[in-house]
Amino acid sequence: MFQGILINKDEAGYHAALQAIDEAVLPAGDVTVRVEWSTLNYKDGLAITGRSPVVRRFPMIPGIDFAGTVSDSQHPLWQKGDRVILNGWGVGETHCGGLAEVARVKGDWLVRLPEAFSARQAMAIGTAGYTAMLCVMALQKHGVLSTDGEILVTGANGGVGSVAIALLARLGYRVVASTGRPAEADYLKALGAESVIDRAELATPGKPLARERWAGVVDTVGSHTLANACASTRYGGAVAACGLAGGMDFPSSVAPFILRGVTLYGIDSVMAPLALRQQAWNRLASDLDPEKLAAMTVEIGLADAIGEAEKLLAGQVRGRLVVRVQS
Ligand code: NDP
Repeated sequence: MFQGILINKDEAGYHAALQAIDEAVLPAGDVTVRVEWSTLNYKDGLAITGRSPVVRRFPMIPGIDFAGTVSDSQHPLWQKGDRVILNGWGVGETHCGGLAEVARVKGDWLVRLPEAFSARQAMAIGTAGYTAMLCVMALQKHGVLSTDGEILVTGANGGVGSVAIALLARLGYRVVASTGRPAEADYLKALGAESVIDRAELATPGKPLARERWAGVVDTVGSHTLANACASTRYGGAVAACGLAGGMDFPSSVAPFILRGVTLYGIDSVMAPLALRQQAWNRLASDLDPEKLAAMTVEIGLADAIGEAEKLLAGQVRGRLVVRVQS
């Protein structure tokens, strides 16, 4: 038996509880990991509260990412004692996840913990931070240079937004942070934002083409925000879309794409190939300022995760929540 959060859906409804879990609940997998740190991402909030149908099998241990130590392995790449991290692959959705003391997964899904990070730091970054890196890499691969103009980051106080700001600022980009919490402007500027705008400016229906402003965009919000971001992206610029915190719809027109040559990149962290993951984690090791990471991280215990999930979805969490899994 081990401690963890378990989600059930039965005659009593949808409910998540911290409890003792039998190892028999764990799915098949060739590597067993003693989980040390996990995190609360937006998707974990959806899973724990049942707000969206993220969980596809019951009972389910939520937690789309974790860091820990291999305790048993039948996989040729992994041995007992290896330090590993995991992001995505349906873990915490269709396969039991990281918000418990033990996880059993496929060895093919694991990434070696980069030497630059402790397990806690890796999870302070977590899926949100690794996704932010994928967004920045997409803009750079497109050829967006720091001298091209301002980069818009939406959902700025969230996990993806906070890490994206810190990364872009470190790389010399001029970052404009869009937020619904202007009172957090000092926090956003300390991370590296040059200026802060009210997200309300982007949240309502806009014109198909607006004044050209952004050389690049990292969007975590979707809906009208993404449409307006595309409409204000400069000729030949790029938008990296990874989130739906404001809605899953995309009420845009083709105008930015066919009249300004704007490129919209879809960013997916869950099924991203291993080589891209390795590249992203290596880049995080070199491009993320550990002091900024520490400044955006709040530590909680497993017992706090259920309550914090509600706050996360209510947009009341700033930066990253890292979860201490072992008691
Ligand atoms: P967080 O909850 O940490 O941050 C989301 C932020 O979005 C909030 O802090 C808030 O920022 C803003 N926000 C919240 N609600 C609204 C709203 N109704 N309208 C506009 N803005 C809003 O989440 P994460 O940073 O972890 O994730 C952000 C998004 O990215 C989520 O949709 C998530 O599902 C997605 N994601 C996608 C991944 C992928 O693989 N594609 C991987 C990881 C995340 P502020 O208060 O500053 O306005």
